[in-house]
Amino acid sequence: MSNSLPRSTARLKGLLNGYYQDLEAAAKDPARKVAWCTSAGPAELLSAMGFQTYFPENHGALLGARRLSTNFIAKSNARGYSPDICSYLTADIGAYLSGQTPLKTAYGIEGLPKPDVLVYNTSQCREVQDWFTFYGREYGVPVFGIYSPWKVETPLPREAVSDVARQLERLCEDLAPVAGRRLDCDRLAQVVRYSAESTALWKRFLETARRRPSPITFFDATIHMAPIVVMRGTEAAVDYYAGLLDETREFVDAASAAVPGERIRFYWEGMPNWGKLRFFSNLFSELKACAVASTYCHSWAFEGLDLARPFESLAEANLQVFINRGELYKEGYLKKMVEDYGIDAIVFHEAKTCPYNTNSRFGLPQRLQERYGIPSVTIYGDLCDLRCFSEEQTRTQVEALAEQLAPVSRRAG
Ligand code: SF4
Repeated sequence: MSNSLPRSTARLKGLLNGYYQDLEAAAKDPARKVAWCTSAGPAELLSAMGFQTYFPENHGALLGARRLSTNFIAKSNARGYSPDICSYLTADIGAYLSGQTPLKTAYGIEGLPKPDVLVYNTSQCREVQDWFTFYGREYGVPVFGIYSPWKVETPLPREAVSDVARQLERLCEDLAPVAGRRLDCDRLAQVVRYSAESTALWKRFLETARRRPSPITFFDATIHMAPIVVMRGTEAAVDYYAGLLDETREFVDAASAAVPGERIRFYWEGMPNWGKLRFFSNLFSELKACAVASTYCHSWAFEGLDLARPFESLAEANLQVFINRGELYKEGYLKKMVEDYGIDAIVFHEAKTCPYNTNSRFGLPQRLQERYGIPSVTIYGDLCDLRCFSEEQTRTQVEALAEQLAPVSRRAG
């Protein structure tokens, strides 16, 4: 990986250490409460009600990145959780059943922070409901869900926004007995403000990749995205992303290339293959190809959070995540990203255990090629389960795409 942002990378470790140490302290303190939450929310509401929030998906990604998933997935399979369902879920539950977690060595905590409540949102997939319900049974704590209408197009249906906003309001009532307090609207406004600021800075950081050559890669973004997932409603996240943006701008000003000699610009579509990020980074660098944008990292660039109508705007932000959108929206979004970032081709990652965040199964690559002339390749793998991935096959496919693009990208350069 290019590791072109050393100051921020050094700060990141300290920031995440502080986050996990505080989570552990909260889990041990009877006066404080811990909520486990899905990545797209409703983290802001939970923070505003005084909960420290923990994200099992982030744990799944860590298990994948450290290549610890395979044995843990087998543990889950033995408990009846299929090898075909989300490998974040199976790796995470398997790690729990084994009594192991890389959080101990990564952040010096004793183990998972015991939850007082679990809250999921189905805007991303149905798996999260079963995942969180498992832990609800294990820990004997309540589980609440927000049920989001799926596959919404533009404009967002008002009845869908209203439905989710009312569910969020109801959730506050359900959470009050666990939190030992009611929602503090001033505190919610402050959390939403920090969330809006940090996600706006995150978006501006990602947008630096519009420059040619790009100062960052998709792989850099996967390293720096942890705070936007786990800490986005905090002042610390705002400070972190302001510093990250400043540092990246220095590279922009110096016309520094994340991939020296950049001649091809890729878009990464779908989940990261966490255990193979270095393989892809090296492969793309060999081909002088830079992955300049991705659906995954841009999914946390929430827009439109509005202090004046926090429930509605949180509902909108939640409903309009890419994974929850209809095919027409997705087609238009990808076309615009290709234009905005000067992308030569899309790499579709077909993740075996995440059909929800895989967009190559219903003809979208073919429509983008036929309607707009956007080339692509579909590679096969998974987010955590390395048994689904072949380096040789993938290398052959990506090299063939680069070869096909070479004359085009030479003209563009
Ligand atoms: S969206 Fe995919 S990776 Fe995320 S929890 Fe759902 S199935 Fe797992």
